[in-house]
Amino acid sequence: MGKDTLNINTAGDRVVVIGGGVIGLCVAYYALRSGKQVVVIEREVQGGGNCSGKNAGMVVPSHFVPLAAPGMIALGLRWMFNPESPFAFSLRPGPALMRWAYLFWRHANRPHVEACRGLLCELNLKSRELFVELSAEFDYGLVKRGLLMLCEKQQTLESEASLAESARELGLDVEVCSTRRLTEIDPGIEMAVTGGIWFKQDCHMDPGAFTSGLRAKIIAMGGEIRYEVDAEGFLREEGKVKAVQASAGSARSEEIEADQVVIAGGAWSADLARGLGLKLPMAAGKGYSMTLSEPVQLPRICSILAEARVAVTPIGDALRFAGTMEIGGRNLSINERRIKGICKSVSRCFPQFKERQFDGVERWAGLRPCSPDGLPYLGPAGPGAENVFIATGHAMMGLSLAPVTGYLMAQLLNGDFPDMDIAKLTPARF
Ligand SMILES: Cc1cc2nc3c(=O)[nH]c(=O)nc-3n(C[C@H](O)[C@H](O)[C@H](O)COP(=O)(O)OP(=O)(O)OC[C@H]3O[C@@H](n4cnc5c(N)ncnc54)[C@H](O)[C@@H]3O)c2cc1C
Repeated sequence: MGKDTLNINTAGDRVVVIGGGVIGLCVAYYALRSGKQVVVIEREVQGGGNCSGKNAGMVVPSHFVPLAAPGMIALGLRWMFNPESPFAFSLRPGPALMRWAYLFWRHANRPHVEACRGLLCELNLKSRELFVELSAEFDYGLVKRGLLMLCEKQQTLESEASLAESARELGLDVEVCSTRRLTEIDPGIEMAVTGGIWFKQDCHMDPGAFTSGLRAKIIAMGGEIRYEVDAEGFLREEGKVKAVQASAGSARSEEIEADQVVIAGGAWSADLARGLGLKLPMAAGKGYSMTLSEPVQLPRICSILAEARVAVTPIGDALRFAGTMEIGGRNLSINERRIKGICKSVSRCFPQFKERQFDGVERWAGLRPCSPDGLPYLGPAGPGAENVFIATGHAMMGLSLAPVTGYLMAQLLNGDFPDMDIAKLTPARF
């Protein structure tokens, strides 16, 4: 922990973390390591409901460009009317979603990208270091072979190559690859692409094994995880939260005492923050994954199909395909047209894979918690709730940034200055 201290209320050691997804679990783990007592409350059953279980499992220093970037609005508009495209925006947005869209538009520009790419890269690299450290504590299948950004069209390859140049400026180890070079790097899969970029520091893992390993670790360290407990509000006194008001089933409601509270409720976090008078613009970005347990071919390295925005991850002997970003309501319904879009692009880029191989394969949906500027919310909730902290809004990078989020949050909870300058991540920025 840093030597200097922040003017933050750290009295008492009992931390209640709301949300048992990967962010809440990492916060709990690092808080326990720093000497706090921790209770995690999760409204779903163990392993159910959240976005953290069956995502693409990638650790992505390569993702230093936030979601709010130039060209995204035009691309989104072009894709909106194609039911098989990787992007959709709710056709009936309410006022909160309209405000989110306005804020997104305000940030989708070059100065914004330039202002935050260094920070995103630094956060992802620190998180990668922590993932490596954690893999010595429990095995969750971390593979450190990098990520291939695969391009079907020459034009895409050129634009990805110019992004690779920016990546090098940030100190990342990157190689622009011909088709032949791609085959040398990953002989495990036939690819019908023009070329690609190899981001050598990216990693992949089984995200389910990571979260279940973390849960076991938290329990072994004396932490508590309570399932099917729904945080509904806060009991406040003199500008501080004294307890989280929660219900478990219809029969009982209770007050869970807290010295400090961390809201890590993913796409639902804004509801809780609103109860404290904090505006946390948030949209749920739905995505899907499908896992082939006996794929016809198994790559060694994870990849992203650049045009279709489909992530492909080997998980043990299985192969996971993940994609789409449907900005809208918080429902987990499956849109088969978009699933078809994923299957089509996979069979185009990997000719040994046919669309019919996905028939009957389980479809999983998760809601990414998306802030409008593409940066996480990480820090104190602000006046009126001095002892409450927020950790959410990581969008497509929630797994990748989970360890660094927990690590920095533990510093905040202890009143220490965080190791990195995270002023841009303040939850009160909108
Ligand atoms: C298809 C897909 C692929 C992805 N691939 C990757 C990837 O490769 N790499 C990467 O870094 N990220 C990836 N992501 C994003 C990543 O999965 C998310 O950013 C991350 O899981 C968010 O974690 P979280 O803990 O914030 O939210 P969640 O996992 O959603 O957890 C929040 C939890 O809080 C609980 N909760 C909410 N409100 C309350 C309440 N009031 N009381 C009690 N509990 C509550 C919810 O039930 C939920 O379990 C992907 C996402 C999708 C959809």
